[in-house]
Amino acid sequence: MATLVELRNTSKTFGTGWFSRKTVALRDFSMAVDEDEPTITALVGESGSGKTTIARLILGLIPPTTGEVLYRDKPLLELSRTERQQFRRDVQVIFQDPFEVYNPFYKVDHALHLPVRKAGLASSRDEAVEVIEGTLRQVGLNPRDTLGRYPHQLSGGQRQRVMVARALLLSPKLIVADEPVSMVDASLRATILENLRQLNTEFGISIIYITHDLTTAYEISEKIVVLYRGVIAEQGDVVPVVQEPEHPYTQLLIGSIPMPDPDQKWQQGLEVVAPSTDATAETMTADYAGCQFADRCPHAMEMCSESPPLYQTASNRVVSCHLYREEAAA
Ligand code: SF4
Repeated sequence: MATLVELRNTSKTFGTGWFSRKTVALRDFSMAVDEDEPTITALVGESGSGKTTIARLILGLIPPTTGEVLYRDKPLLELSRTERQQFRRDVQVIFQDPFEVYNPFYKVDHALHLPVRKAGLASSRDEAVEVIEGTLRQVGLNPRDTLGRYPHQLSGGQRQRVMVARALLLSPKLIVADEPVSMVDASLRATILENLRQLNTEFGISIIYITHDLTTAYEISEKIVVLYRGVIAEQGDVVPVVQEPEHPYTQLLIGSIPMPDPDQKWQQGLEVVAPSTDATAETMTADYAGCQFADRCPHAMEMCSESPPLYQTASNRVVSCHLYREEAAA
């Protein structure tokens, strides 16, 4: 099985200068995206969990402090010019706020013509227009209502879908979708999620879906990685992880789901919320060597002062918690 992109034991620490305060954004994180098996994987976590750091590492926007980021088994830093160009085509991103991506002085056409020209996707302007219009239709946009307009003349949903079309133009193999529905209203959320699903099922593109919203993660993903303060809490197929969570943090999140039972009180929604604790993420992540969830965990015990490894609790599932120490380490 060919591996497209892999993060191998990557860690990322910010503020490594003499006088700056160190923050560990990611610890010893590994994941791989297979080329032959396009899947949707959700990275779920609250602010400071490391999910955006993972996205930036995959895209080659930042280097890891330790560990490696590989494209087709080769470290990103060692790619030749041609390999780097191919990497730029294969791995695309859809950002949280598409408005920030557009230059307000250019019509949206500019954002679409640029990749067509750079990647040599058309031999004439007419051909470029044909390619762009075809791609806009594929994501449910009418070219006549979209092209020739400035970003502010489009709705948030249209701008987001133009970004999906822009990514699709380059026939990528992986799209990193960074909170793509957090800035749009509920009526457009379903459309954009459907677009992502379509990219996966119809075009064979793997999606890394970054979110703090468990509902949408459950809705569209096959696999899920639950992150907490820069480490994996739990990882596996989305249905068993959400329906029978094993890590105390995942259990806490799932326990917050509103229940259909009319006698059951509605609590908070499915959004992953910041911790209600005196200890901040930074005080624990910088030097603390134990379980990152220990200050909130109802099952914390003496051995939790040591960081738990990932225990393999099923064939496709790992949990970072000493409660599962009877299982083999992954
Ligand atoms: Fe709780 Fe200990 Fe498991 Fe961490 S390792 S989640 S503190 S039981």
